[in-house]
Amino acid sequence: MTKKTIAIIGGGASALMLASTLNSDKYIINLYEKNAALGRKFLVAGKGGFNLTHSENEVDFATRYSPTTFLAPFIAHFSAMDFRTWLSAIGINTYVGTSKRVFPTKGIKPIQVLRAIENCLANNHVNLHYNYTFNSFTTNELTFTHHHNEVAVTADIVVFAIGGASWKVTGSDGAWLNIIKNKGIDTENFYPSNCAYKINWDTALIKIIEGEALKNVTLSCGILHKKGEVVLTTFGIEGSGIYALSAAIRPQLLATQVAIVYIDFKPELSTKNIVELLHNRGNLSIKDVLQKKIKLNTTHIALLKHSTTKEEYNNPQQLCTFIKKYPLHLTGVAPIDQAISTVGGIALHEIDEHLMLKKMPNHYAIGEMLNWDAPTGGYLLQACFSMGKYLGDRLNAM
Ligand SMILES: Cc1cc2nc3c(=O)[nH]c(=O)nc-3n(C[C@H](O)[C@H](O)[C@H](O)COP(=O)(O)OP(=O)(O)OC[C@H]3O[C@@H](n4cnc5c(N)ncnc54)[C@H](O)[C@@H]3O)c2cc1C
Repeated sequence: MTKKTIAIIGGGASALMLASTLNSDKYIINLYEKNAALGRKFLVAGKGGFNLTHSENEVDFATRYSPTTFLAPFIAHFSAMDFRTWLSAIGINTYVGTSKRVFPTKGIKPIQVLRAIENCLANNHVNLHYNYTFNSFTTNELTFTHHHNEVAVTADIVVFAIGGASWKVTGSDGAWLNIIKNKGIDTENFYPSNCAYKINWDTALIKIIEGEALKNVTLSCGILHKKGEVVLTTFGIEGSGIYALSAAIRPQLLATQVAIVYIDFKPELSTKNIVELLHNRGNLSIKDVLQKKIKLNTTHIALLKHSTTKEEYNNPQQLCTFIKKYPLHLTGVAPIDQAISTVGGIALHEIDEHLMLKKMPNHYAIGEMLNWDAPTGGYLLQACFSMGKYLGDRLNAM
């Protein structure tokens, strides 16, 4: 049987899983990466909390993605548990942290995870082509720039796995968008996700709260809510609590240039509890009750004092409304290059249920270059690995 040739463009998370899954008895696997090394964004992800995936149940897991239905079949095909089992088989054990996020076992560095995956590629006879920058294609041919020379390549099957458009230093610069768009394939402009948001703080207030973290708060925007932590900065607000609301913040910002996020400073206390504590304060001042009974800190209190009138502050019911539903007005978004992920890229209606471009048979696209969104915390990498695994198994079965 003559082997077919597969060209995978990009050497990030989704491509690595695809290349290690493909059957090398059936395919000649060529992977083209513009950098001199694989997985640079994967390593950047490893510098923070390296959340490889998340341990929550599969039903809740699937709801973290937007649109909700798009990724479900790929996650069902290769779940978080499947991923952990796969990692374990290649020598990378994982554990579930208190946040339910999944990390490599303590002591295992991100580079070791990458090396273990690279070993799979070597064992699977994947031909790695470094310093190949993809810059155009026809149905028969791909063109790359390689050390200032133009190189044309042919393949029976092409898989684009070229990533989103943040952290350009890692190689994922989104420059491919126009190449794809010029083929008549619908794309959406890139937009930052999982990123900081701008707040026009009052100057006196930000001097007091700058750099402070609000821990164990619940943030909500539209139908999304997230318990977590945020940090208040001169730019605005950042941290996992706000990143997780990106899918709800984005449409509001795009439509009206303002998005409203509410913070519950004390999710563990009910409105009734708080109002009672404020009502029955005896000789204590309101500030004393806030600090000693409700356990709010100076940052919470500075925010409350700044946003309430004297009457509201002195009225238990009204003050409680601010404690349970403190409004923040977001007026902008951090620069795209600083975002953990991006949305935009190839419009989902352009690909079929097997990740093939409908207008270009035998051309597939996987990973962050497709227009889906998810909060950080393992969901992004899981989605990329799941798509790579699904497509690999699908192509093996064809
Ligand atoms: C700071 C940071 C922290 C993160 N932390 C986490 C986390 O803890 N958990 C989590 O789940 N996710 C995290 N992510 C997100 C996650 O890393 C990405 O979603 C994921 O790497 C995307 O995988 P991908 O395969 O789609 O693309 P990428 O990993 O971006 O890979 C794309 C590859 O294509 C190459 N390429 C680009 N253009 C070309 C071209 N023209 N020709 C050839 N090659 C090209 C790039 O060099 C790159 O190697 C983090 C991201 C960042 C930036």
